[in-house]
Amino acid sequence: MEALTKSKKVLEQKPLSFMEKIYLPAIGKGMAITFSHLFKKTATVRYPEVQREFSVNFRGLHSLKRDEEGRERCTACGLCALSCPAEAITMIAAEAKPEEKHLYREEKYAATYEINMLRCIFCGLCEEACPKEAIYLDGPIVPADYLRKDFIYGKDKLVEEPLQMKK
Ligand code: SF4
Ligand code: SF4
Repeated sequence: MEALTKSKKVLEQKPLSFMEKIYLPAIGKGMAITFSHLFKKTATVRYPEVQREFSVNFRGLHSLKRDEEGRERCTACGLCALSCPAEAITMIAAEAKPEEKHLYREEKYAATYEINMLRCIFCGLCEEACPKEAIYLDGPIVPADYLRKDFIYGKDKLVEEPLQMKK
């Protein structure tokens, strides 16, 4: 204990050298590190102008698929919403009228289907749970927006366009 107090006193009393007072060696070392980075390859890209290639198992924006006849595949069974750990999916099921048979694959369809992209963690469980191969996370990154309400994606944004259908 006595030895500790003694060495503490010695440290406190030792005056700083001139170089220590002006911090020159430390500044020089910092500048050398900074300049060395000027000649290194940058780790970042100028996004969004430049975009990196995604991994093959990248999960992006959801897309609600149509079948080969252009009808919505989703039958509003609710399994995707049940499997969603983030409770991001909301849907309201409805019965298709006889004259709407060309629009929906089965008698039930999702009249409302919404995903809250601020809740979604892109785990892909909805895709795995779907027995109808109706939902895939094969879209791009969810774009930035200003209002929270604009991150709730409805059928207008989720259902694939008839033009995008496989031929
Ligand atoms: S990807 Fe995961 S978190 Fe997102 S909606 Fe599907 S199940 Fe929910
Ligand atoms: S997307 Fe698939 S799992 Fe979800 S309600 Fe439609 S059919 Fe069912």
